[in-house]
Amino acid sequence: MEKTFHITTFGCQMNEHDSEIMAGMLEARGLRRAPDRKSAQIEIINTCSVRDNADKRFFGTLGQLKRRKTQDPDFTVCVCGCMMQQQRVVDRIQEKYPWVDLVFGTNNLHRLPDLLDQVLTGHDKEIEIWQERSGIAEGLPAERMFRHKALVNITFGCNNFCTYCIVPYTRGREESRHPEEILKEIRQLAEDGVREVTLLGQNVNSYRGRFLDPATGEGVPGGGLDPGVCTFAQLIRLTAKIPGIERIRFMTSHPKDLSPALIQTFVDVPELCRNIHLPVQAGSDRILKRMNRHYDSGKYLRLVRDLRAAVPDITMSTDIIVGFPGETEEDLQATLDLVEKVGYDSAFTFLYSIRQGTPAAEYPDQVPDEVKHERFDRLVELVNRISAEKDAACEGKIYRILVDGPSKRDRKAMAGRTDGFKLVNFSVREEDLPEESPLRGRSPQEIADLLTGRFADVIITKGKTFSLEGRFLGLSEEA
Ligand code: SF4
Repeated sequence: MEKTFHITTFGCQMNEHDSEIMAGMLEARGLRRAPDRKSAQIEIINTCSVRDNADKRFFGTLGQLKRRKTQDPDFTVCVCGCMMQQQRVVDRIQEKYPWVDLVFGTNNLHRLPDLLDQVLTGHDKEIEIWQERSGIAEGLPAERMFRHKALVNITFGCNNFCTYCIVPYTRGREESRHPEEILKEIRQLAEDGVREVTLLGQNVNSYRGRFLDPATGEGVPGGGLDPGVCTFAQLIRLTAKIPGIERIRFMTSHPKDLSPALIQTFVDVPELCRNIHLPVQAGSDRILKRMNRHYDSGKYLRLVRDLRAAVPDITMSTDIIVGFPGETEEDLQATLDLVEKVGYDSAFTFLYSIRQGTPAAEYPDQVPDEVKHERFDRLVELVNRISAEKDAACEGKIYRILVDGPSKRDRKAMAGRTDGFKLVNFSVREEDLPEESPLRGRSPQEIADLLTGRFADVIITKGKTFSLEGRFLGLSEEA
């Protein structure tokens, strides 16, 4: 009987996509995905090193697996991801969790099937961490979470060295995929029914992919200075030309590299969703400098102004860190002021946590925990108030939603996202359906099957802080 596996993923969308690729590689080798960890014979934990919290949850999960491993020595435990790129973590696993069967890193993810084979056939422990990426592994299969939308890596690694961040040390230097490889992958996704792609990288704005054949670059709208290089704005334009791709998103976007050409792309390319995640991290220029972010609040606010001038209804989200070393009450006030000025639709707020190996970990003026928490609460209150106001302003409006499936809150309702990435939970009521609607008389499951992956028109009945509620009006005209 073929073995079954389960993957637990911590962290960002890049990690989620890495997990999709691991699942795809294992299924291609004949393994089957188990519905949950309990029933799996192989557990893979894909770790994240960005926040202290994810770090703790990883070791907590490992602790829980110990009992199962003791009862069932054939149960196989594999750990991978960003944390494994840090020697101190690998040392700790070897010392405290010697029963872990396989340890590998982000740079040799594509080696999983072979490494697992060695573990399963030889019953030997394997540890393989590559400090450097040896090129980009192309053509790996992926078992994707959704059939109608997909994550697509365009860059790997990061060159920015923000002083609080471990990513450049764990994911390595930035490398861009060739545009042809990316477009080939998206073309295949579109043929498989994908309608929305999210282009992924630590900083997609600095994407510079070299064309495999410089001749292919000719005639690309927006033309780059170097005809052999494809910029991020050009890549979006090329993606939009692929038949079947109706929505394009990207994540994540460093303000220092947000170009006028990209802002113009929002205007010219209807497939590019009117939404941007633009991490600001802090509103104080002093703290931004210490974070090594290469912009100040003035530059950031000018970008916001330019984006809104080009696309008045663009939705915006951000990341903010509270309690960075040396942060004063005045610095926090600058952050609160900036949040108020921008008026984000949503924001991911974080308490600064020390990441060993980063410059900020060595700063002597760490902010005491209780001060951090008190500031954090004030920031969250402000962010939530603004989000709730923005969501309330959606009430009574009709949005085109790409339906993801049944709502997580209420299995009888459906859920999807607006072009502006707002989550909408909506009901499908018999009395709202026209006589000839194919949804009439259907069970919730049949409705889910019919609507998932389609565009629907939904009227918003209630704006909440993190989501919208609405009622289904009908299928949206297909593009
Ligand atoms: S841009 Fe800064 S925060 Fe983002 S991954 Fe790179 S170093 Fe980390």
